[in-house]
Amino acid sequence: MSRTGALIRSIDKLPAELRDSASAAERAFAGGLDAAGRLPFAVTPHFASLARPEADDPIRRQFFPDPREALSETGPFALPDPLGEGRYRVSPRLVHQYPDRVLLLAGGACAGYCRYCFRRVRMSGGTSFITEGELEPVLSYLAARPEIRELLVSGEDPLTAPDRTLEGLFAKLRRAAGTLALRVCTRVPITEPPRLGPATAAMMSAWKPLRVSVHINHPRELDAEARRALGFLSAAGIPVLVQTVLLKGINDSAETLAALFRDCLDLGLKPYYLFQLDLAPGTAHFRVPLGRGLALYRELEERWTTAGGKTAELPPYAVDLPGGGGKIRLSEQSIAGTENRPGGPVCLLKGPDGSLWPYPAESA
Ligand code: SF4
Repeated sequence: MSRTGALIRSIDKLPAELRDSASAAERAFAGGLDAAGRLPFAVTPHFASLARPEADDPIRRQFFPDPREALSETGPFALPDPLGEGRYRVSPRLVHQYPDRVLLLAGGACAGYCRYCFRRVRMSGGTSFITEGELEPVLSYLAARPEIRELLVSGEDPLTAPDRTLEGLFAKLRRAAGTLALRVCTRVPITEPPRLGPATAAMMSAWKPLRVSVHINHPRELDAEARRALGFLSAAGIPVLVQTVLLKGINDSAETLAALFRDCLDLGLKPYYLFQLDLAPGTAHFRVPLGRGLALYRELEERWTTAGGKTAELPPYAVDLPGGGGKIRLSEQSIAGTENRPGGPVCLLKGPDGSLWPYPAESA
């Protein structure tokens, strides 16, 4: 089932309240996205229904094109490939950065576009679901490397593909590497929950060991429909991990994050990572400064434990070191120092091997 047909692709097709909330600048910017080769505007009716018309609404901001995107597209810290996946690409669709884990860029679409997306440059050009020809070298690579224990099925959102397509992919991966654990990375349970029913959960369950990693940023995303979709996964015995991106003006308060993680735990989902924003072009206005992020995380821990929670229930605050340095957990100790660079001050983050990676100290 392709979700593409269901997407709202213009401000005029939004529900009336949202449509009328668009400023002249937002309309002009959204209208020129395709012609300028920028990340298109697309949102599912479901996700749009969660938004309120105020410009600072945390759901609206995630999908509504913002003219500020143009300002930091060519900024000093903008990286077209913020995670440096290109450095570790072993075939057009396979990224091998960590010894026992690989990333498969399988999906050809997303159920709507998140304005802060780290793959926004790649997606602006459009891609298709992985073809037989693209899968062949992936299967050969896996078959020759038994040390690879887990494969992440990601990029863009694999659940925009039909069940039979996904099942065919899982079957081929397992034939190539019999013990491979699968992790399906998706935002569909939040943006298009009707896509995930009991039949899809049962199909995925048949391919265990399989986990699902869901991207959730705000407690309001967990409405009744999303809860139902996620419940089908839990009922099928599929572990669900939650990844959250720390976003300025959307979830950058200890209260909001605590409410989100509490809801996730109550639903049997595991808060897995709270990510510092990657340095994709055009997203700087979403960036929470590192110092503020660290203070916020401390506040979150204090609030959580005061309320009787355990710090182990909270996801680690982490960042993918810009340009391909890998994932590190963020704390005051992970910052080796600060420096003034031509584009502004940077924090020097310590990589796992002691190397230093600059990350802007301030937001836009
Ligand atoms: S669902 Fe993920 S890959 Fe797709 S636009 Fe959002 S952040 Fe990007």
